[in-house]
Amino acid sequence: MIKDIFLAHTQGFCAGVSSAIEVVNRALAKYGAPIYVRHHIVHNTAVIADFEEKGVVFIESLDEVPDGQRVIFSAHGVAPEVYDGAKNRGLITIDATCPLVTKVHREATGFSKKGIQTVLIGHRGHQELVGTSGYVQPELLHIIEDETDIDHLQLDPDLPVGYLTQTTLSVSETAKLIARLKEKYPHIVAPPKEDICFATQNRQDAVLELTKVCEVVIICGSPHSSNSNRLKETAHVDGVSSYIIDSAQELDFAWIEGKSTVGISSGASVPRDIVDALVNKILSRFPEAKVHQAQSVEKDISFAVPKV
Ligand code: SF4
Repeated sequence: MIKDIFLAHTQGFCAGVSSAIEVVNRALAKYGAPIYVRHHIVHNTAVIADFEEKGVVFIESLDEVPDGQRVIFSAHGVAPEVYDGAKNRGLITIDATCPLVTKVHREATGFSKKGIQTVLIGHRGHQELVGTSGYVQPELLHIIEDETDIDHLQLDPDLPVGYLTQTTLSVSETAKLIARLKEKYPHIVAPPKEDICFATQNRQDAVLELTKVCEVVIICGSPHSSNSNRLKETAHVDGVSSYIIDSAQELDFAWIEGKSTVGISSGASVPRDIVDALVNKILSRFPEAKVHQAQSVEKDISFAVPKV
């Protein structure tokens, strides 16, 4: 019987996601529907469905945007050729790229200007990685996902080498990959500042705290959300059963059967009402359970909303 529900102290919308969502809301309020957004503004099913209902049109290629229209670029960032493509088409652009992703773009540009071979750690095909790759000279770019990729990596010994990472990776897994890279390339240059963002770090730290007191951890997050999946893995790697759900309807009570403590967290793109619905669903079965949540370590952090 569930007696305690522990909510991760830091979870849900990060500053970058809040800002990106606000950009779309302001654009809708100012210009009305349809508003075109290149790629899902953030990786969350509920957020996207809500915006689609309000008249936001999510597209993958600028060809899908009619002439003279506005297009918003998602929080994950885009490659330089996408800005160029929009300019050539005469589209009006609004950039909702998270400033912490822009920081990685600047680092990538800086490495390539110095002729540094860039080992980019991240998930192939993820929108952020695709965007960041565009800032690296193609002949200097080497994408790796795991240790096998490092084993197969063949770099020019006469050129300097550096690494950069996606912002939403597992902190512990990435540390292992970086250690392996340093073994193979002792002179490898680190980014000027850690690329995994504070929001990713804080949410993984908060899940690790949950695993100390919970028998099972449930993460709210969409299947394609990188940071949400890393939260599920963080709990799992620490030896606690963990599950990821896109909505409260996906809760299977068998997961918490016979347990007395459950932890709940959510990815950086997940609205709070999904977590609340999950808590209420558990409380409907275990009305005596107590809900605990400490204050977020990010309560004072926000990013400026780009001009719309
Ligand atoms: S997870 Fe990090 S990089 Fe991504 S939007 Fe949030 S703050 Fe920015």
